[in-house]
Amino acid sequence: MGERISLKAEILRRLRNSKDYVSGQDICDSMGVSRTAVWKVIKQLENEGYDIEAVTNKGYRLLSYPEILSGSELMSRMNTVWAGKRVYFHKETASTNEDAKYLADEGMEHGSLVVADEQTGGKGRRGRAWASPAGESISFSLLLRPDFSPDKASMLTLLMAISVAEVISSLHPDLDVKIKWPNDVIVNNHKVCGILTEMSAEPDFIHYVVIGVGVNVNQTVFPDELKDIATSLRIEKGEHIDRTAIILGIMEYFEYYYGLFCEHLDVSAFVDIYDRYLVNRNREVRVLDPKGEYTGIAEGINDSGALIVKTADGTIKAISSGEVSVRGIYGYV
Ligand code: ATP
Repeated sequence: MGERISLKAEILRRLRNSKDYVSGQDICDSMGVSRTAVWKVIKQLENEGYDIEAVTNKGYRLLSYPEILSGSELMSRMNTVWAGKRVYFHKETASTNEDAKYLADEGMEHGSLVVADEQTGGKGRRGRAWASPAGESISFSLLLRPDFSPDKASMLTLLMAISVAEVISSLHPDLDVKIKWPNDVIVNNHKVCGILTEMSAEPDFIHYVVIGVGVNVNQTVFPDELKDIATSLRIEKGEHIDRTAIILGIMEYFEYYYGLFCEHLDVSAFVDIYDRYLVNRNREVRVLDPKGEYTGIAEGINDSGALIVKTADGTIKAISSGEVSVRGIYGYV
């Protein structure tokens, strides 16, 4: 299982937050560790590409840092109260959702985050595959231990979709960011992020919820089967994007929105913002219901997060099933 980083992240955080030298002795005293332990961490950081100056009687100073995705990099920059405060990082794993579920059964705490540089068996809804290549994409799973009832949990997917959309639009205001209900974030009409929420529950009690997120960040090409529907932030921006900043931002937005959600226990506080992002709002969509396909106008979501679709004969349908996919009338979006 992934390493749990604390001393390294704390030293990195202090180095990053200080313009001046950070005294090695101060670190030892405040963290109750030996000089050797601190020195070892400094060496590890240097090996990872952090440029650290060491001056006798003054201490350590961070001169420059590499753009890498790692547990200590994430934890040293995390500004949240609980979301993503503990990071379990894997260079490679089959599926962060599977890891998070395993760790949840072992007692991993609310807000813990499993992050991988590469997923070899990433999952989408209904057992479909999600491509998450090494060094280019974001794959993480956030563990929640809510005390509300299991029927509310599917709304968390919508909260995560808004969080991802908000981060991308705030960091890159020039991009046209939308959400395809319920769980896909779209940039310039192509899928940039997928979300898979899984839950372990009894009929009226949630053990835990795991929200898995995959974001296409720095891919420059996609396999043939995805190239018509997928895009990456790099393709849309024409520049390399810092994956860490995106994850940090998602945690900040999600923490805030989750607090709001827990007050209302529905998405009433988010309907406006979600509808603003809703691709195909007031346009015709095709609803791929296993019981029969139909078309209608997507009007927006309701307080429970269901998509309201008005069919040609005027019937209003509130679509809430996770078994349903919605498409634009001419294709994926
Ligand atoms: P639908 O639009 O049918 O509701 P979905 O939102 O349920 O789709 P997911 O199950 O979340 O889709 O994601 C799996 C699907 O996403 C795969 O079937 C594949 O088409 C597509 N996919 C897989 N990897 C990527 C990727 N890296 N970027 C974009 N799309 C991908």
